[in-house]
Amino acid sequence: MTVYYVDGAFVPADNAVIPVDDLAVLRGIGICDIMRTFQGKPYFVDEHIDRLMASGNQIGLALPWSRSDIKQIVFQTLEKNPGLEEVNIRIVITGGSSPDFLTPSGRPRLIVMVTPIGRLPESWYTHGVKVITLVQERPLAGAKVTSYIPATMALNQAKASGAVEVIYIDRNRNALEGTTSNLFAFFGNTLVTPPADGILKGITRKVILSLAKDRYEVSESSLPIEKLLTADEVFITGTNKGVVPVVEIDDIAINDGRPGPGTRALMTALADHATRFKQNGG
Ligand code: PLP
Repeated sequence: MTVYYVDGAFVPADNAVIPVDDLAVLRGIGICDIMRTFQGKPYFVDEHIDRLMASGNQIGLALPWSRSDIKQIVFQTLEKNPGLEEVNIRIVITGGSSPDFLTPSGRPRLIVMVTPIGRLPESWYTHGVKVITLVQERPLAGAKVTSYIPATMALNQAKASGAVEVIYIDRNRNALEGTTSNLFAFFGNTLVTPPADGILKGITRKVILSLAKDRYEVSESSLPIEKLLTADEVFITGTNKGVVPVVEIDDIAINDGRPGPGTRALMTALADHATRFKQNGG
């Protein structure tokens, strides 16, 4: 059976529990990060742990672990699970138990889980996907917090209209990001992505920006929804998605409604990056 790390101990997944007075249960206080393995090695482990620490810092949750403590626990958890296929590694830090049942009192709990990677439909990559938009701003947008209530509500709305993701729009009608993805658009040879403030700085976003900068003009700038709809190509990125072409937004086709050449080139560039990572053994 899969083994998780929970608050100082390695336990079988079925016995992995936290006390009900943890602030994650009572108040939804927690931070998280999720990475994936390639050939059993965590991909961008340092970047994900850095973002986790930054999330803690942003929400004012004092963490008693160093980066290297967390990294060591991640690797130990992987070692406790030999023979697994590729996995997601989910790190969660809860608010911990607290005498006032409200404010974190310096005893957060660290959880590391390995879970199977869900396969997304092949058609997402070959034909592209449909998304919808929703006016919604994530509070503390730069932090990855455990509460995804607005995201799940938005995704229910998306599913009802045959879409797979929701693009958040801010009060000024600028497109920001998806519920669990970052957003990019090509205008000719220029690749645009919304600026880092107001969104979660995706690790995949960062890789795509670095892979794109030698091939295209790259611009981190505001992307009003009206402009987005006139893009030549649109795509979303995320750890579990990679690069997914977006061919329809709110029932409006993007360009000819098919994945474009820039998006396909970046899908390949990202896949090549993963192949090099596998070859170098992490
Ligand atoms: N934006 C939000 C709100 C997310 O939750 C995520 C991932 O979960 C992303 C963007 C994509 O980030 P990453 O590429 O690090 O997976």
